[in-house]
Amino acid sequence: MAYDSENIFAKILRGDIPCNKFFEDDHVLAFHDIAPQAPTHILVIPKGAYTSYDDFAMNASDEEILAFTRAIGKIAAAAGVVEDGYRLISNTREHGRQDVPHLHVHIIGGKKLGLMLP
Ligand code: IMP
Repeated sequence: MAYDSENIFAKILRGDIPCNKFFEDDHVLAFHDIAPQAPTHILVIPKGAYTSYDDFAMNASDEEILAFTRAIGKIAAAAGVVEDGYRLISNTREHGRQDVPHLHVHIIGGKKLGLMLP
């Protein structure tokens, strides 16, 4: 799947539209989901143009992968969900119900979540 540079997260990364930022470094941006599904609902995205986790895993540099992986853990800790637990989700393409075609990991927590069924 070719990367669509007009997707909404690409626009957020370019500063064309605002976000409620939670964390940023050289490789990663995290912001609060506009339609939170739980008290904590943060989206973590790499700054590089990757559509999905598999695209990222196969094409990103080791530095980007390390930064993204570390950031997810740090952000979960900073959001205060580590002790009680949380869920990481990365919806992927059509069957995975991915709406925005820029890799994002949802960090969802702050309450006991329901069971995840297909
Ligand atoms: P997906 O279904 O995994 O692609 O999830 C996309 C997520 O992006 C949804 O949870 C949306 O609520 C969220 N979202 C869409 N537009 C924005 C925005 O402008 N700011 C923050 N979150 C957004």
